[in-house]
Amino acid sequence: MSKKYVYLFQEGRSNMRDLLGGKGANLAEMTHIGLPVPPGFTISTEACNAYYEYGKQLTEEMRDQVMTALRQLEETTGKQLGNVENPLLVSVRSGAAISMPGMMDTVLNLGLNDETVVGLARLTQNPRFAYDSYRRFIQMFSDVVLGVDMYHFEHLLEGVREAKGYSADPEMTAEDWQEVIVEYKKIVEKQIRKPFPQNPMEQLFLAINAVFESWNNQRAIVYRKLNKIPDHIGTAVNVQSMVFGNMGNDSGTGVAFTRNPSTGEAVLYGEFLINAQGEDVVAGIRTPEPIAQLEQEMPAVFQQFKEVCTRLEQHYKDMQDIEFTVEHGKLYFLQTRNGKRTAQAAIRVAVEMVEEGIIDKETALLRVDPDQLNQLLHRRIDESAEKNVMAKGLPASPGAATGKVVFDADEAEELGNAGEKVILVRPETTPDDIHGIVAAQGVVTSRGGMTSHAAVVARGMGKACICGCEAIQIDLKAQRFHVGSLEIHHGDIISIDGSTGEVMKGAAKMVDPELSPQFQQLLGWADEVRQLKVFTNADTPHDALKAREFGAEGVGLCRTEHMFMDPARLPIVQEMILAEDDEARKVALDQLLPMQQDDFEGIFRAMEGLPVTVRLLDPPLHEFLPDFEDLLVEITKLQITAPQSEELKELEQMMRKVRQLKEMNPMLGNRGCRLGLLHPDIYEMQAKAIFYAAATLIKEGTAVYPEIMIPLVGHVHELQILREVVEKAGAMVMEETGVTISYAIGTMIELPRAALTADQIATQADFFSFGTNDLTQTTFGFSRDDAEGKFLQTYIEHKVLPENPFAVLDQEGVGKLVETGVRLGRQTKPNLKAGICGEHGGEKSSIDFCYRAGLNYVSCSPYRVPLARLAAAQATIRNAK
Ligand code: PEP
Ligand code: MG
Repeated sequence: MSKKYVYLFQEGRSNMRDLLGGKGANLAEMTHIGLPVPPGFTISTEACNAYYEYGKQLTEEMRDQVMTALRQLEETTGKQLGNVENPLLVSVRSGAAISMPGMMDTVLNLGLNDETVVGLARLTQNPRFAYDSYRRFIQMFSDVVLGVDMYHFEHLLEGVREAKGYSADPEMTAEDWQEVIVEYKKIVEKQIRKPFPQNPMEQLFLAINAVFESWNNQRAIVYRKLNKIPDHIGTAVNVQSMVFGNMGNDSGTGVAFTRNPSTGEAVLYGEFLINAQGEDVVAGIRTPEPIAQLEQEMPAVFQQFKEVCTRLEQHYKDMQDIEFTVEHGKLYFLQTRNGKRTAQAAIRVAVEMVEEGIIDKETALLRVDPDQLNQLLHRRIDESAEKNVMAKGLPASPGAATGKVVFDADEAEELGNAGEKVILVRPETTPDDIHGIVAAQGVVTSRGGMTSHAAVVARGMGKACICGCEAIQIDLKAQRFHVGSLEIHHGDIISIDGSTGEVMKGAAKMVDPELSPQFQQLLGWADEVRQLKVFTNADTPHDALKAREFGAEGVGLCRTEHMFMDPARLPIVQEMILAEDDEARKVALDQLLPMQQDDFEGIFRAMEGLPVTVRLLDPPLHEFLPDFEDLLVEITKLQITAPQSEELKELEQMMRKVRQLKEMNPMLGNRGCRLGLLHPDIYEMQAKAIFYAAATLIKEGTAVYPEIMIPLVGHVHELQILREVVEKAGAMVMEETGVTISYAIGTMIELPRAALTADQIATQADFFSFGTNDLTQTTFGFSRDDAEGKFLQTYIEHKVLPENPFAVLDQEGVGKLVETGVRLGRQTKPNLKAGICGEHGGEKSSIDFCYRAGLNYVSCSPYRVPLARLAAAQATIRNAK
């Protein structure tokens, strides 16, 4: 039996996405539900793979199936490809299973040649339209299929316009276009040394091949990499009979979203152009009219359009992104797909669709990608501060950004990768600029609409973007732009606000984000569903409060070393480290104790009523001391200039200690509980500070739940000894203050040995907190300070590893240790509380893993708390399914 590669639209359905691509499946579905869709057929993604396997050509079988489908299309439309009397014209478009807007190629008006164009002119009684279509076809086909640079055509056209004294294309007459066509064909012949193909069948097969080829063009490859789309899924090709939006003023074309993709507001949102073809809208060449204008210009069409939009939302149960064309007053739908949207819009649409009864809460929770929430949790422009607005464009993708002006995507990439903040400013962007957009803080274009490629791509990435900012006059050659008399040069700092469209001179003041009511609503639903608790990693009362505002249910990790880094304290910390004997150390510790107590009171107060997990000192001591090389230089200098000075003596003493503490592998050295064992008085001081703080607050009537955590335990004896130190401190403080404090003592599980002997460790621990940063470091044997900068990037590029394991938990390896740790720990204590406080606690796939591994909580940085709440809810819902 031969394989089926080609499907008429009426043969497909929306669930055949993998086979027909998103566009093909949707065209089939729209046909199925009776929408006005121009007929056509889809060549499957399997055909794409077969095309590559067969040495980059269509097999006989595929060609035969295309011919059969074409004949059926000819029958349905009553037109024929290449027929002079009644020519069928088709579009040939790409469409993968996962949408890749603008990344692959399209050919329109296929079927036109020197003869059929005459027929089209006669049939439409519109020669101008016919010849314009033909020249567009030559241009597009030559670019996409024959590889002729567009520049040649544009250059020629510009010359013709100038010679005739026209300012824009609509002034061109049929005769003018005929002249242009003659010249276009000469260009093609000169460039490819063959005439422009006149045989429509040949055109069709060449175009199909070109679309398959475009699966592997540079921008498609980059886009797939960025969006983690597999390379092997291939694209489908859709061949569809053309309808024309450029048949006159009763025709037009547009793109629209059923809701605003930027804010989520439930109003039709989009743009259209009268008397134009689709590519004019998305390419951002002419700035289109807002869709509301259609109501004025074609009220009946608008009414029908609105009705179908409602129907489409009800059918697909999601916001739709629609391409439509009006041909002589008749409306056609060319495409519909779930619309890309900002985080803000994703939330609002999800919440309102629940309120409208279109979807249920669980569906709403699954609709929002936790990663997208970052966009909302970032800083925005402070509206109360003065801002130096110089121009306003279309607010195409929200968020605010400040950076240096650059005019070139390659430069943006180069500077961005070097850590510079840049804003990419372009007349318009094409998908070829995508690498520059990735590396920039934001994008501004002077032309193009809200649905131009720049906008779509930026929104997908959550980058601030302003489009169609026509007040800006860019001079690429001189590397500057003008706004009126104001001149901004390459390298000058500007700020942009993608929510208002404002472009500002200089660095605008920014403020912290807040959660919108819909966001709160959605997170409220998430809280109803999720089983994992969400704690935060916070070292200051400020961070703790912020996290609480975002919904944190406690502090899962308070890293006390950050309190030691304070410049006012560092000298005392150094004294503590440099102390030659216990007595001298005690002096320093006595000074530090009230300071630490103060720190803990602040955090306990901020987290009133919620647990606070305080980790005792963890990093290697040399981190608090001056750098060895710096000291060496300083001492050498003093030996020459002031050999007798006190300063030199002090520095030399410091040097001796630094040398003594210096380690080859400090991260595997004297840190964590090892420090506590060598200097129990440090841990004792910290424990006392915690208990004194707790006692003070309890006396005030504030509920506190301190949990004390010992880092880097690898053997149960370490924990056993340090547990006693803490318990002793607790007993002493309770006796002294007369306050009873209920507390817990637990440990980080962040070494493989700890995970593997968790049953023993659990005898001494009230809770476990998986420190997956160190656990990843020690499981892989990757230095966490060096790996990411040195070799991990190469590993990921060459697919040695699928992801950076410091960002996304390695479930197969590190995860196995987590599972083992939980299982063994609970063998000893069935109700042992276990959580995670490594960076992975704020990453969605790792959170899903934590849920499956049976952890009780995740702990992450304050700004990731909302993300974690949502991801935790999704974990419950997904795993129940
Ligand atoms: C960890 O190792 O995962 C952890 C949370 O501790 P730190 O990052 O402070 O070493
Ligand atoms: Mg650690």
